Amino acid sequence: MTQTRIALVSGANRGIGLEIVRQLAREGLMAVLGSRSLAKGKEAAASLASEGLEPAVVALDVLDAESIKSCIAQVMELFGRIDVLVNNAGILEEGFSPEDSSVFDVSTDRVMRTFETNTVGPLLLIQQVVPIMRKQGYGRIVNLSSGAGQLADMQGGFPAYRMSKTALNALTRITAAELGPGEIKINAMCPGWVKTAMGGPGATRPVDKGAETAVWLATLPEDGPSGGFFRDMKPIAW
Ligand code: NAP
Repeated sequence: MTQTRIALVSGANRGIGLEIVRQLAREGLMAVLGSRSLAKGKEAAASLASEGLEPAVVALDVLDAESIKSCIAQVMELFGRIDVLVNNAGILEEGFSPEDSSVFDVSTDRVMRTFETNTVGPLLLIQQVVPIMRKQGYGRIVNLSSGAGQLADMQGGFPAYRMSKTALNALTRITAAELGPGEIKINAMCPGWVKTAMGGPGATRPVDKGAETAVWLATLPEDGPSGGFFRDMKPIAW
């Protein structure tokens, strides 16, 4: 009998995270919808019911180490394993013009909050799930990064967000190096510019396209890559 894979997705009550849950559930994984607000998470899960999809819902605030621990404990109690972690939760607390978000004006509060959400949250989740994945002998970790964090094409504006995603990319590579080749794979990806609350109405991509590469990385075969950075299922520059 093939084991049903259990996939935890953070920040999954809307946007790309909810779409990742939808696509993973369609592929037959047991998706666990992590949501800062349990009520919003349940509402989001209910929106998938008409498609016959029934993800589990667990409260998860990536800014709160206790919430992270309790989320992992709940998933383990419910399913006894965690095969996939998708670090999707993220914030862009900056305005959409460079004047609103210049490196010369950004507050340390904003920088710290953005790092805590976009980088430290994923780190804490990785620290919780890797021992579980090691015991299972299987794991796939996907970090929702951004082209905004690419050093190869670094621009001005959005300094807190850009730095947090560059650091998330570093976290991806450090973790991959420490894991070495084997059963646990970790990769970063950029979803493109996606029509969500964060992407805004001018964004060029629908959410299903934005989620596609994350789902591919979450279900990589044994000979799949680790320690890479991808968009549209192809490697991109760091
Ligand atoms: P979104 O629509 O703004 O959704 C963000 C999600 O993150 C929401 O579910 C939000 O929950 C959750 N979140 C924020 N802070 C959280 C916390 N402390 N704990 C738990 N959940 C938290 O954004 P999106 O466009 O779907 O983005 C998803 C990911 O893709 C992010 O990491 C983003 O940086 C990345 N990305 C997006 C784009 C784009 O164009 N949209 C481009 C590149 C990368 P609440 O509802 O509780 O706030």
